[in-house]
Amino acid sequence: MKKSHVRLVARMAALALILSFSSWSQSEQNAVPGEYVVQMSQPEFKVRGFEVIEAIHADLFLVRDTLARSSGAAIARLKEEHGVQIAEPNLIYRTSAVPNDPDYSALWGLKNKGDADSAGQQGLSGVDVGAERAWDLSTGSRSVLVAVIDTGVDFSHPDLAPQAWTNDRELNGKPGVDDDGNGLVDDINGYNFANSKGDSTDDNGHGSHCAGTIGAKGNDGKGLVGVNWDVRIMAVKFLDKSGSGTLANAVKSIDYARTMGANIMSNSWGGGSYSAVLENAIKESSKAGILFTAAAGNDANDNDARASYPATYNVENIISVAAIDNRGQLANFSNYGAKTVHVAAPGVNIVSTVPGGYASYSGTSMATPHVTGVAALMLARNPSLTFADIKSILMKQSRPLYTLHGRVASGGVADAYYAMSGDTPPSDPNDPTTLSKVFAYQLATAHPYKENTKIEETIRVPGATKMAIRFSRFDTELAYDAVSFYTSDGTYLGSISGKQTGLVTSPLIHGDTVILKFASDESLNSYGFDVDGVLYE
Ligand code: CA
Repeated sequence: MKKSHVRLVARMAALALILSFSSWSQSEQNAVPGEYVVQMSQPEFKVRGFEVIEAIHADLFLVRDTLARSSGAAIARLKEEHGVQIAEPNLIYRTSAVPNDPDYSALWGLKNKGDADSAGQQGLSGVDVGAERAWDLSTGSRSVLVAVIDTGVDFSHPDLAPQAWTNDRELNGKPGVDDDGNGLVDDINGYNFANSKGDSTDDNGHGSHCAGTIGAKGNDGKGLVGVNWDVRIMAVKFLDKSGSGTLANAVKSIDYARTMGANIMSNSWGGGSYSAVLENAIKESSKAGILFTAAAGNDANDNDARASYPATYNVENIISVAAIDNRGQLANFSNYGAKTVHVAAPGVNIVSTVPGGYASYSGTSMATPHVTGVAALMLARNPSLTFADIKSILMKQSRPLYTLHGRVASGGVADAYYAMSGDTPPSDPNDPTTLSKVFAYQLATAHPYKENTKIEETIRVPGATKMAIRFSRFDTELAYDAVSFYTSDGTYLGSISGKQTGLVTSPLIHGDTVILKFASDESLNSYGFDVDGVLYE
């Protein structure tokens, strides 16, 4: 037998760590046991065998089953009751990021000069959100209010302190008193729904990292800079120290940001099944004219085929965001969707602020605040833009990347400069599909390929100035069995793995030579690949 059960379990555990904090592995709880969120048609909940934990709104209740029924039985019982419109488990959401080793040098998402990122991967110049050019048009404004709905924000961090939104009636009021009468005590910079208190500082790091990408204070001679040099950030915390939070608290967070006047809500979290209650809360934010950015998710999944919430709710104020690396490739963990994912943004090895310093994280969690930041910058420059304007401009003026064709609806990466200037974004200078000549070349793995296969092939097309290897078929184990491409001097150019469809090519190579390397590990072998030629000019 080729592989043991133990081996497979070990691999799955590793995958869960590498790829996703946003979705469920079997061992994770996806709802709070015994708790349900119930939408009533009247402002009252009375069902025998259930007790109210709290009223989220007048007619929306968090309740507990006192009879320890299964989730299915409890929901069936609730739905029998007159006046119950929706009954759902109190779902658990999680952050969509993966921490890794810090490096303080490279903010490639804002300005990619082709340098290495914090993990040492050489970048591709220009693959960024165009922030540096955009700063000639706007550097942001304190008039724009962004709610970071997450694990909280550390406003004692020197890069974030100047950006805090303050609820002045609470700031100038009495400690322990609900001075503004919104039902929450001491909500000075936001609110902590995870722990039911006014102090919404960050005990995880994720929310502060997102906040720093949106708006670490710029031009102050210290630390990092965000997409916005100036912005107001409201810290709405519902994800706890471990990075997870409930449906009930997600709804309260969205409602809070809406009623307290946010212009944009930034949402780097997800998971769980469909929730009508959560969808309704987002619809209310849409009616209030607020943009809702959402992480597409880290499951390497096609959201068109299998929805990822909240990013995939069909509500018009949602912008769903995929992640790319510093060479413009879709991150190997990133969800995608030609219809339901709108735009891509930098999300691999992103350096930003965390409590006590700086750190590098990866995830669609990190891509989302780049888009939030671009939207905030657009709003700073032109406060009359509606969320519909911002969404359509962001998509239309995104900078095309061939890697995103058929993967996100806009086919491009969000770009602050083109979104604000109105200049036409250039076509992708690294698009291999524009190469018109074909050099006959054949190379194939065994079908299926064998474990521990190693192929290294130097391919030269005499006279070529640009080239790209073309595959007629490509199907390998995602992330583990990859084909990588290098220049003749050994510079890494990119890699492909997984099941690919459509026109499959290597990245574009400048010059007449490329080195192809394929390595498979000891299990889970697929078809492999067939090279049927080299595109060049
Ligand atoms: Ca209050």
